[in-house]
Amino acid sequence: MNDNEENIYNNENIGNSNSNSSSNGNDSNNGDNAVNKAKLKFHIITFGCQMNVADSEMIAGTLMKMGYEKTGSKAEADLVLINTCAVRAKPEAKVYSHLGDLVKLRDIKPSLMIGICGCVAQKERENIIKQFPYVDLVFGPQSIGELPRLIALADKAIAKKLIKLSQMKKQDGVKSDLKMKRKFKGARVYGDFESSGDNLPEKDVSRESDFKAYITIMRGCNNFCSYCVVPYTRGREKSRPFDVIVKEAEELVRSGYKEITLLGQNVNSYHGDGGETFADLLERIDSIEGHFYIRFMTSHPKDLSERLIDVMAFARHIAPHVHLPFQSGSTRILELMNRRYSREHYIDLIEKIKSRIKNVTLTTDVITGFPQETEDDFNDTVSLLNYVKYDSAFLFFYSEREGTAALSIDGAVPLKTRLARLERLVQLQMEITFDINRSMKGEIHEGIVEGIAPKSEKELSIRTYDNHVVIAKAPDGTKNYTGEFVKVKITQGFNFVLKGEIL
Ligand code: SF4
Repeated sequence: MNDNEENIYNNENIGNSNSNSSSNGNDSNNGDNAVNKAKLKFHIITFGCQMNVADSEMIAGTLMKMGYEKTGSKAEADLVLINTCAVRAKPEAKVYSHLGDLVKLRDIKPSLMIGICGCVAQKERENIIKQFPYVDLVFGPQSIGELPRLIALADKAIAKKLIKLSQMKKQDGVKSDLKMKRKFKGARVYGDFESSGDNLPEKDVSRESDFKAYITIMRGCNNFCSYCVVPYTRGREKSRPFDVIVKEAEELVRSGYKEITLLGQNVNSYHGDGGETFADLLERIDSIEGHFYIRFMTSHPKDLSERLIDVMAFARHIAPHVHLPFQSGSTRILELMNRRYSREHYIDLIEKIKSRIKNVTLTTDVITGFPQETEDDFNDTVSLLNYVKYDSAFLFFYSEREGTAALSIDGAVPLKTRLARLERLVQLQMEITFDINRSMKGEIHEGIVEGIAPKSEKELSIRTYDNHVVIAKAPDGTKNYTGEFVKVKITQGFNFVLKGEIL
């Protein structure tokens, strides 16, 4: 037994010192409580898309307002939250393996509070509650605003259990101690899974970066693509007020942020409180003075308007990059996917984008092996990928997600075929990206240094305005360039990356 453990077991006031949150969940008291107590630490493990990253920043902001301190190490933390993604099966499985590690940490530190949030928490709450009894908190993306109240409740429940354990230890001695700890059940505190997300602490954001920021402009989705769980985990579409978003963007630019990414499951269906469209919002943010880039994610082909293309064509800050998932090149499969556009509509849109937005970068998402996908349907996907020539593509094989409409579609494609088709697309896309990258040799681009290159400490990773990643040698090895604008000349193009030199 280590010293910390001994302290935990013998501390009569453990209930009060386990959390900095007020027991009534009133935010305004939380900061004051924190002043008098040692800072507790939190660690968030985030899976999934930028929406989840943005949610984790909101959770971090809420916890810091409560007096918690961020730590990069789960072993150091008093509270570990796993912010989960349910879109694909793999990240969901990883969550369960992280939970196994956390339960070992709980053996060492019985006061450790373990929470699961995000889409898996929303979708799999009953399973989590049944299979992982040591989890203290479970809450969905719509109930992040409840966090102070949930932590206060969990805190009380944990305190009671620790006191009980301490008494048992006094009676039975050290031998039964480890056994009891392993049996230590979680506080079992749950958020409101029916919450409409009206009270999200959207102002309490602790940003990971001091040069690039996410602004969530809308949440949820009304589209019900037949393979997707998002409408069930994040609820229906809800847009944030136009002026609030514009003010947030102005403040970010004023405080030196160089890249703002507007986020939403389907940004194109943004609807401001005064009837403003997404094109209006982009145009307004583009009018802010300063040197900064605007990016956005994700677009739905059925909602991307011609006006949006025009706004992008004449923009000063909006990056010339459109991520436009097509998912399948076959109209028949698109219908089964409930995507509500045809192959022809998609191609028409791409042609308009290419002809009006100068040097636009195009990226996409594709699924192989959706139920009933024949070789002909798949060849339609191959031909679309070949026709558009995306700079890069996120390619996936279809994976069944419980609760989605696609599960009831007959004609499952064997897993082997789904994977073989995926492999063919990966090969094709690598060739396309390689050709595009090679053709960029000699071009000069502006970009922002995102940090040290992953494979070499002497090189920098730069994301260009048009969303290409360039690796270039740092001009001065002792200087930190992260977050700086640079001009870079492309010297070589590879499969996945560009090499360059900073001018
Ligand atoms: S648009 Fe379709 S794929 Fe995207 S979040 Fe909504 S339902 Fe899911």
